[in-house]
Amino acid sequence: MAAAEGEGRLTRGRLWARDFASRWTGTRSFVISAAAIFLVLAMLGLAHPVAAFVAFMLLAGISATRLMVVGETTPIRIGTRAIEAGSGIPGAGGSALALLNKLPDPLIVLDPSGRVAFANGAAEAQVGKAAAGRHVATVLRSAPLIAAIESVTRDGTVREIEYAVPVPVQRNYTAYVAPFDGGKEGAPRLVLVLLRDVTEARRVEAMRADFVAFASHELKTPLASLSGFIDTLRGHAKDDPEAREKFLAIMADQAGRMRRLIEDLLSLSRIELREHVRPSEAVDMLGVVNDVTDGLGPAAEQYGVDIGINAPAALPKVLGDREELAQVVQNLADNALRYGRSGKRVEILLDRAEKGGRPYVRLTVRDYGPGIPKEHLPRLTERFYRVDAAASRARGGTGLGLAIVKHIVNRHQGVLQIESELEKGSSFSVLLPLAPEPASTLKH
Ligand code: ADP
Repeated sequence: MAAAEGEGRLTRGRLWARDFASRWTGTRSFVISAAAIFLVLAMLGLAHPVAAFVAFMLLAGISATRLMVVGETTPIRIGTRAIEAGSGIPGAGGSALALLNKLPDPLIVLDPSGRVAFANGAAEAQVGKAAAGRHVATVLRSAPLIAAIESVTRDGTVREIEYAVPVPVQRNYTAYVAPFDGGKEGAPRLVLVLLRDVTEARRVEAMRADFVAFASHELKTPLASLSGFIDTLRGHAKDDPEAREKFLAIMADQAGRMRRLIEDLLSLSRIELREHVRPSEAVDMLGVVNDVTDGLGPAAEQYGVDIGINAPAALPKVLGDREELAQVVQNLADNALRYGRSGKRVEILLDRAEKGGRPYVRLTVRDYGPGIPKEHLPRLTERFYRVDAAASRARGGTGLGLAIVKHIVNRHQGVLQIESELEKGSSFSVLLPLAPEPASTLKH
């Protein structure tokens, strides 16, 4: 364990010198007492002088070995109380120490002078490998945390704080700082520092807040537009049939935008709810692709885009949820039509693929449109992430299509791959695990 190694290094170095004097004090009186006893026994004739001398030398030798070798169980003095080296905590035995070392959260124990008496394995990232014996201010670089530790050392009151470490990548921690005297009156006050990395929890909270803010903003814009047109129709456009027709068309458009957004939000939350339940249908992907492209016919015609489907004659079924897989094909084909329409051609391909030795059915939706700049590719599946927000809105986009695709693919334990080249087009591929073969096929 890293912390134990650090302790070990200290034991062999400065610790050895520091503790030699205290160990020598105990050993010296033991050796003197033993010498006196053997001398008296020899003088009284109760022991042979040679035997007494040999026994004394044996005892002295054992004591000297104990004095020179500092092992795992050599006591270290912290204040007035001896604690086990390697545990640093009064009363902590080997199994307790092993338990503390296995704790997933960093735990640091400080002696009354503020030096590290013990740091478990998880604390290594915070305090480094050779932290034992060093002052906490030199190993933990957070001013609020050091201030909390000083306060606890001073008044013995438990403190809980949250702090951030900005480098190399910002991480947030909560620290629980508590006094510890092993429950013994007059014992020196150690300080326990238990840290918890809350970076992920804070990130999720921030994402949730962002999501609500984005969703509200996306709904607010068409709603404001609808309210504005309602006022106009009630006011000066009341008796103008031409203006009324024009405004009603815009209102229908805005209402459609709100409906799509609400539908996508609902889809996303439904998929998220089921994300940990594996789908169980055996789905024929060619059937799904055919159904979806039938529905896209009018849009493809309107944009002058030709949709081609290419699939081998015999394709195994995938393990999936037919409705969700139809949504994947729909969203990807929809994007290809809306953003890649200038390429005049969209291809939907189905084939077999292998990744990490596992067989898949691969669905690829390829367009020959303007393509997507490389720097945007890793973020495309984030909610509300758009390369060009105005272009997306103008094409009826909600910014949620690829986020939905990613969640469905995750639920199916599949893989989503996005490739794109400027001026050449984009290709979105989804690898889907195969459905188990039916028992009757297995027999043959
Ligand atoms: P949206 O509702 O805006 O289309 P998506 O999540 O489906 O949201 O897509 C996110 C963004 O990715 C789009 O706004 C667009 O900028 C970009 N994008 C998606 N598919 C394509 C494509 N086939 N060609 C070019 N850009 C695309």
